[in-house]
Amino acid sequence: MKAVIVLSGGQDSATSLALAVKRYGAKEVAAITFTYSQRHAIEVEYARKLAKRFGVENHNFVSLDFYSSITENALMSKDRAIKKIKGSSCPTSVVEGRNSFFLLSASVWAKKLGATEVWTGVSEADYSGYPDCREKFIKSQQRTIRLALEWPIKIVTPFMHMTKAQEWALADELGILEIIENETVTCYNGILGKGCGKCPACRLRNAGYREFLSKRKSQR
Ligand code: ZN
Repeated sequence: MKAVIVLSGGQDSATSLALAVKRYGAKEVAAITFTYSQRHAIEVEYARKLAKRFGVENHNFVSLDFYSSITENALMSKDRAIKKIKGSSCPTSVVEGRNSFFLLSASVWAKKLGATEVWTGVSEADYSGYPDCREKFIKSQQRTIRLALEWPIKIVTPFMHMTKAQEWALADELGILEIIENETVTCYNGILGKGCGKCPACRLRNAGYREFLSKRKSQR
């Protein structure tokens, strides 16, 4: 096994799974999906479908259900609105430290499988400003995990400096544009594909899509 991909069922992780499968082949790739009382179980369902679609058989579902007992946020609690927090770079949907748990857990499993790469679809380019999506954090986390496991884990972040529009263009190149368009869940309201169109995740995704389409048009 070469790589473990953190797969949430959204655009970023689905595209990174496809990219890893293209690089190593489906047999050399495993997927890991975390459940942590997200508002929407539909994400997890689509993560399952996406792994199947890309031929990845080794798919682990890991429960981090303790999360709601240590933090509060709009992604996990239905009665909190998703909006920008005043004086902070984060919206109320931030799940504090989530990627730290994800990457450590994925790395522990990767070591068990004999894999040295853990892939995550995080980006600091035009995203919501979550601190645990930034390159600075990823580098530090990689170092910590190597020390903790004595295993040469490499955290691979193919989209770290990519905009959403560039990510759509990559999906197009990989021949998976329609899958990403219609079979991923990015929306904070749990609506498949284009989503509700109103939440911050949808606005980012859809604006990137429009930018990608207009660029593609001008190139033709
Ligand atoms: Zn939405």
